[in-house]
Amino acid sequence: MERHEAVWELHCVACGRIHADGHASPCLSCEAPVSARRRGGAFSVREGAPGIWQYAEPLGLDPEGSRFSLGETMTPLLPDANLAERHGLASAHLKLDHLCPTGSFKDRAVAAGVAQAAAQGSRGIVCASSGNAAASAAAYGARAGIPVVLVMPAGTPPGKLLASGAYGAVQLLVEGDYSVSFAVAKELGRRSGFANVTTTYVNPAAVAALRSTAYDLFRQLGEAPDAVIVPTSAGPLVHGVVAGFEDLRDWGLVDAVPRVIAAQPEGCSPIARAWDRGEDRVTEWERVTTDVSGLDDPLRGYAHDGTLTLEMVRRSGGSAIAVPDARTASERRTLAERSGVHVEPAGAIGVAALTGLRERGLVSAGERVVCLLTGAGFKRPLETERAPLRAASIEAALELAEAAEAVGTAAEPRRETIRD
Ligand SMILES: *Cc1c(COP(=O)(O)O)cnc(C)c1O
Ligand SMILES: [Zn+2]
Repeated sequence: MERHEAVWELHCVACGRIHADGHASPCLSCEAPVSARRRGGAFSVREGAPGIWQYAEPLGLDPEGSRFSLGETMTPLLPDANLAERHGLASAHLKLDHLCPTGSFKDRAVAAGVAQAAAQGSRGIVCASSGNAAASAAAYGARAGIPVVLVMPAGTPPGKLLASGAYGAVQLLVEGDYSVSFAVAKELGRRSGFANVTTTYVNPAAVAALRSTAYDLFRQLGEAPDAVIVPTSAGPLVHGVVAGFEDLRDWGLVDAVPRVIAAQPEGCSPIARAWDRGEDRVTEWERVTTDVSGLDDPLRGYAHDGTLTLEMVRRSGGSAIAVPDARTASERRTLAERSGVHVEPAGAIGVAALTGLRERGLVSAGERVVCLLTGAGFKRPLETERAPLRAASIEAALELAEAAEAVGTAAEPRRETIRD
């Protein structure tokens, strides 16, 4: 019999132990991630509700009175004919999730995590982050009126520090890589009782909210694509996309779950390494050498997280691939200069992965592909080779402008058809 009321249950993905509502990962018995599992329910959208609360029913969100939103979810989905043509695809869509309120998809997760913290009356919020989740936690914490402590690696790019610094949160910089900040935030949460909204698998409510990405895609495409390429660190976003499409399949709205492909930088690719070797378990990454901020989590102390992500990838029939930083950098520039879309390096890695995916037959000609663009360029602005020109008078400005045109700085004109 079909149930209409969704039942959510926190279970350990390894040993199956059931945990009480509000429990944070890892499992009390075995250290594996605890994940929210849904039974029953139905898909419905609350038209007019802000952001993530449009999906209150399918996501099982219900802290009445704690509904904070800054307008996350339903970011634009843009067809990119250029990209489709370059790779011989039937269609390529860019999901502009870097347009979430604080400039990354982390807003989806943190909106739900902060709502839960508020509903539980938490006196504070703590979040480990390489920069993006920090901005989310700071913004949503400000909205909810809850003090926020951010724990970030000392090497966090300045643009990301500025982005999270605007909201009045405490910023704590810690020597070492992301995993060190992760451990500090966990201990801080344990001792202070602050809610931990770190966006690895720590917070099941936050992870579940990432299913909204799949719901958005379904509403925007009217079907499931063949493949979704996801910039991946620990992998909660992969989890959200797979689980969200599984929901839609269970509800009879799509025939199949798309292949979900995890894209990681070569210099920190524990999940792609395990996939390449055909292993079932992901192991910690020894030495992070990538410059792609946000995808530089070596999973030290929680390699289980990577294993769960790999399982989700396999369950969808997908794959994982490592991408050289240089390719990511050049695709990011192309996205800005040819498509007018400025993302940070992590945001471009899904698009950059396409070359390798086509070469290895992991994406085939004629397929419909969606690339998730996860983080905004303003946090790590592209450096331009051209310095701005300076003019002291109108005459000088006109001369410079004409000279610039003669040099051919303008791209070739294009036509775009907008269907409505
Ligand atoms: C955090 C982040 C990712 C990776 O997300 P996971 O869910 O940890 O795999 C990808 N892109 C950007 C811009 C991020 O900030
Ligand atoms: Zn367990």
